[in-house]
Amino acid sequence: MKILCVARNYPLHAQEMGAAPPEKPVFFLKPATAWAASGEVGYPAFSQRLEYEVELVFRLGRGGKNVPVDKAAALVDALTVGIDFTARDLQAQLKAQGLPWEMAKAFDGSAWWGAWLPLTADWPEKPFRLLRGDTLLQEGYGRDMLFSLPELITEASRYFTLEPGDVLFTGTPAGVGPVAVGDHLRAFLGDTLVGEVWIRSAP
Ligand code: MG
Repeated sequence: MKILCVARNYPLHAQEMGAAPPEKPVFFLKPATAWAASGEVGYPAFSQRLEYEVELVFRLGRGGKNVPVDKAAALVDALTVGIDFTARDLQAQLKAQGLPWEMAKAFDGSAWWGAWLPLTADWPEKPFRLLRGDTLLQEGYGRDMLFSLPELITEASRYFTLEPGDVLFTGTPAGVGPVAVGDHLRAFLGDTLVGEVWIRSAP
């Protein structure tokens, strides 16, 4: 399994990061060891600013290479809501030096997602949300993505052979922010609770 992620796929998030919306999707990868399968995320020892990015996450049931856009949606077999955890302070340092982001984005525990749900046609119209306790932290709609799901799959498959079981994070809407040790986060798609996350002290 590989974890494919898209940067700046919601115009208002690009704006809050001080970046222009890209003309083509920008991808980055997280290794399988980034997956926080248990729902427990250790606050990284190398960061003072761990941030959540709530995102729609899709699972591929089939693979492909150079997938035509009209065939791309058929590769997807499930969706859920996940968190692309980011060491924002380290990312800012790396960006300022023009260096790759992986250390700030692909560390252990940096990718979490909830229970897989069947793909239904109305997902772009359903709100996806992240709450801390009962407080809404972030909310978005798939309809606001800059690049559609088929466009993302087609473009990704030009660079990376897609395989069954691969996971695609489709970018975060505006409203990212910090977490702290002890936080309890809950992710929803529409009214469905897909899963919960606890932030623990450094492993
Ligand atoms: Mg993200």
